[in-house]
Amino acid sequence: MTIFQQIIDGNIPADKVFEDERAIAFRDIQPQAPIHILVIPKKPIVSLADASEEDRDLMGHLMLVAAQVARSEGIDEAGYRVVTNIGREGGQSVDHIHLHVLGGRQMGWPPG
Ligand code: AMP
Repeated sequence: MTIFQQIIDGNIPADKVFEDERAIAFRDIQPQAPIHILVIPKKPIVSLADASEEDRDLMGHLMLVAAQVARSEGIDEAGYRVVTNIGREGGQSVDHIHLHVLGGRQMGWPPG
């Protein structure tokens, strides 16, 4: 079981900033920017590579939750970044799909 499943199940605490029936958003425990929030579905999908046609609406919902969280954190006007890491070379460390919402500083490009 992943650490994010344990957060969904309420077995370990998280600093939640949003929750509805399909998704949770919470602060990353090792923030890489002044604002660093993770948006996850409650459905256990490993990564974007594992999302299927039946997840189309859920994937869209996660993107809109990311934008909503960015607005509520006050980073929408300055701009921010939404990223999802996939697999080993993508730098994914938790096998439950998540969107990183990063903001509050100037982002670099290309990402490392
Ligand atoms: P990734 O490397 O893209 O899989 O991102 C996983 C993220 O989860 C990392 O940024 C971690 O800092 C974060 N993370 C791991 N455990 C926790 C936790 N218990 N609460 C909040 N964030 C976590």
